[in-house]
Amino acid sequence: MNSRVLARQVYRRSRTPEQRLLAKLRHNGECLEFIGCRTPLGYGRISVGGETIYAHHLAYELAHGSIPNGHIIMHTCDNPSCCNAKHLVAGTHKENTHDSMRKGRWNTPRRIADRRAHQGANATRILDRADIEEIRNLKSDGYSCRQIAQRFGVGHNTIWRVVTKQSYREW
Ligand SMILES: [Zn+2]
Repeated sequence: MNSRVLARQVYRRSRTPEQRLLAKLRHNGECLEFIGCRTPLGYGRISVGGETIYAHHLAYELAHGSIPNGHIIMHTCDNPSCCNAKHLVAGTHKENTHDSMRKGRWNTPRRIADRRAHQGANATRILDRADIEEIRNLKSDGYSCRQIAQRFGVGHNTIWRVVTKQSYREW
């Protein structure tokens, strides 16, 4: 191994996760966006102790301590790549769903429209497994088929069939 590569590795290891996180943050308005590796949805990923975790989780833990059991970290700014600890709050999955519903934040209709355009007229599987789970969870949380349909950009009949397991039965 040449010495420059080795030096780089030693340097990388000598830096703390906090230093590596800070090196990848850029201001965008009030937000501190992670500009390193990101998931398709825009969440930053960073490796800590051989494990890859969400950058905003690390940011939260550095500022507020460990994430409470059974909680997820939500962005008050709706910016998935943001790691500004002031924009991060711990909440339950349910709270997050209600929060998104209230703000009408979901970009699902767009994603589904893309999928439809891609599959053309023969599209049979517009919804994926995560959608199906989400739809059934929302229904059991008390949302109406019409509300859920709006959120997903599909007909409320489609939602009704998912909820009653007339379609996507195997999920
Ligand atoms: Zn933010």
